[in-house]
Amino acid sequence: MVPGVRLVVLGKQGAGKGTQCVRLSHHFVVPHVSTGDMLRAEVKSRTPLGQRAKALMDQGELISDDLVMEMVGQRIDDSDTQARGFVLDGCPRTISQAQHLADLLEPDHLDLVLDLEVPTTMVLKRLASRRVCVDCGANYSVASPPLTNWTCDVCGGEVIQREDDTEDAIRRRLELYDRQTAPLIEWYQRHDLLISINGTGSPDAVTRRCVKAIDDRRSNRSPVEV
Ligand code: AMP
Repeated sequence: MVPGVRLVVLGKQGAGKGTQCVRLSHHFVVPHVSTGDMLRAEVKSRTPLGQRAKALMDQGELISDDLVMEMVGQRIDDSDTQARGFVLDGCPRTISQAQHLADLLEPDHLDLVLDLEVPTTMVLKRLASRRVCVDCGANYSVASPPLTNWTCDVCGGEVIQREDDTEDAIRRRLELYDRQTAPLIEWYQRHDLLISINGTGSPDAVTRRCVKAIDDRRSNRSPVEV
């Protein structure tokens, strides 16, 4: 079996992170750990955390670092992530979360951080047409809907537009990305963990670039043209 991996995927909202993280988690046989999905599950089950998070999420604001990192800390302690690693999606979103994650992983560390690069004009278009399954989080779009009547092909759940995919919330999330998350790129570069991936083109092409970057890094070759 392919060796596991501890991977973080960065990228603006709409850069295709969710789609690529699912594909990479299948390829490397590791859990896909999405903080957005975990928080949406908390909201759906009306837990105390979900009730605190809902209004912030609907407005596109970030949940506090402590709450998110406590949730992530518990998840990466589980036996499946301990055994094979993870593809972490949506976290870290701040330098403080990145530092906290490094502390949680001690004495180990991340294998690699991929940054999916997609122009803002393209992510705006993708976000406006994005539709997701309320149950499993599978991604669709207006141009590429599920096979039957907005019912998820994977689990049969309802496929809807996310409440934070409104124009105002999208603008706010992209603003926060530039201010709080983009500095992580430089931070991970300094830690020699970052590889930028061209996130445009078909999902298959982007997955191939990601897998090649990871395989190249593992075999200590410098990645060419990722
Ligand atoms: P996402 O699905 O990754 O776009 O996340 C949806 C929303 O969940 C974000 O807009 C935030 O409100 C919240 N969220 C997800 N991950 C984090 C995180 N690492 N730190 C703070 N808030 C988060």
